[in-house]
Amino acid sequence: MVLVGFESAGIGVGTSVNATGPLPKWMLLALCLAALWAGSLWVDRWQSRQSGRDSRLNPPVLVQLDSLRPNRGVDLGLRGRWRMLRPDGVVLEQGVDFLGRLKLDHGHLKIGVFRPELSHVVLETDGDVAIRLNQRWYRGRLHLLAELQEDRSRQLVLRLELPLEDYVLGVVSGEMETSSPNADAALQVQAVAARTYALWKLGQVERPYLLDSTYDQRFESADFETESAVRAVQATVGQILVYDGEILAAYYHADCGGHTSAAYPLGFRRRPYPPLRGVADPLCRDPFGWEKIVPAETLDAWAKQFGLGAYLETVHLYRRGDPGQRCAAVQLIGANGAPENFLGERFRSLTGSRSVRIHEMRCREDGALWLRGSGYGHGIGMCQNGALLRSRAGESFQDILFHYYPGAELASIASLVSPIP
Ligand SMILES: [Zn+2]
Repeated sequence: MVLVGFESAGIGVGTSVNATGPLPKWMLLALCLAALWAGSLWVDRWQSRQSGRDSRLNPPVLVQLDSLRPNRGVDLGLRGRWRMLRPDGVVLEQGVDFLGRLKLDHGHLKIGVFRPELSHVVLETDGDVAIRLNQRWYRGRLHLLAELQEDRSRQLVLRLELPLEDYVLGVVSGEMETSSPNADAALQVQAVAARTYALWKLGQVERPYLLDSTYDQRFESADFETESAVRAVQATVGQILVYDGEILAAYYHADCGGHTSAAYPLGFRRRPYPPLRGVADPLCRDPFGWEKIVPAETLDAWAKQFGLGAYLETVHLYRRGDPGQRCAAVQLIGANGAPENFLGERFRSLTGSRSVRIHEMRCREDGALWLRGSGYGHGIGMCQNGALLRSRAGESFQDILFHYYPGAELASIASLVSPIP
């Protein structure tokens, strides 16, 4: 029933059932089966949200949708009954179904034909997955901001406000291949890590929102949700990791390459932190790894950028006792003899290499720098590739979590005095 209402709103949900001409019988049957399946999934989620309405156990979080590049303008669709509100809750406009272009017009919000004389409004709907931005469908309430920048210009900023558990579902969908076989334990690991990381990160940053990119955690729209992702979130609902009575800094990464790294020498923690000390992960050992070539012109450009002269003389990599064999620090020495020092992770973004787990480095005859390494990502905390391989080998999600975060404990979000810092 819910799905029928969904389609009748007529604001684009992929394949239209209103296409011209009669549909073949097989397609009608397939659509009916899809509707039944989606409907049952929908009801399950709705029931889980009813039980999770306690805002202390399932607090709202804000996620900024920068990956949509809102400054280019966004096609907005609202399904069913909707309201446009001031941030204090006063209703400005309301209606049923909406289609329009969302953009800034001379620094002011323009929402279809509406021009609220405010730099911050909120859109809310009565439905569940009822907000469409370009081709993606989202849950929650949408905050629209014409945000003032340092240069006095204004940028269109979109922030979704949604219950933590719905945010975690979006991260599990964005961070993992959720349709892999035998991935249930790995997806549960990802759900706990994502929930924990979100709460920890909000306590670390000045801003009251999370970013939808890997800078925080990759968050995907409801279109990417699968039954297995929903199951993983529900199976671990409210569970987080703690260490020494505090929310764990639950870093994770794509592939450790055979050993995870210690957070302290790599500059991710100010002092040694036992749950992030680096552990062996033999299932991830990749005999081929990756290669990267940095052209001579790029090296010359770095020399100029850092004031080291016309070209680079030397590149030093320092591991500083990281058990994961990653380069904690890098020193560049230029033609003028001046040094430039920075953390290994900066070297990763400069070179565009997959990790700083660098096993070999050579200068080629053409002046290019050749690197060979393994792993993908910073290497701290849970390894997504290893978690998936362990899940397929039959390990439980608790065993996997405690392997990557030794000494950490599972706790309920209910045990926190205040979940959102
Ligand atoms: Zn691994």
